[in-house]
Amino acid sequence: MPKIDQEKRILAVMLKIYCRKKHRSHDLCAECQTLLSYALNRLDHCRYGENKGFCNHCPSPCYNKENQLKIRKIMAFSGPRLIFHHPIMVIRHLLS
Ligand SMILES: [Zn+2]
Repeated sequence: MPKIDQEKRILAVMLKIYCRKKHRSHDLCAECQTLLSYALNRLDHCRYGENKGFCNHCPSPCYNKENQLKIRKIMAFSGPRLIFHHPIMVIRHLLS
């Protein structure tokens, strides 16, 4: 699977976990939905494309400051839970 697609999938899953726990929303709430579309759109235009590393280590992050902070918070929150729910996905991600 292309790296960008993996990144997108993981982002979507992380947001879902975060929203469910923090916003008590069954699916994504409006706020999280907006953030997700924003992030997916930015990933589509990532200038590193398929050669990119994990976004956390990207020298030119796709996201603006405000959204980057939000996404970081979400990753910090959902990351450990994601490892529990989707271990294979995360391990693949870390190895890639
Ligand atoms: Zn939410």
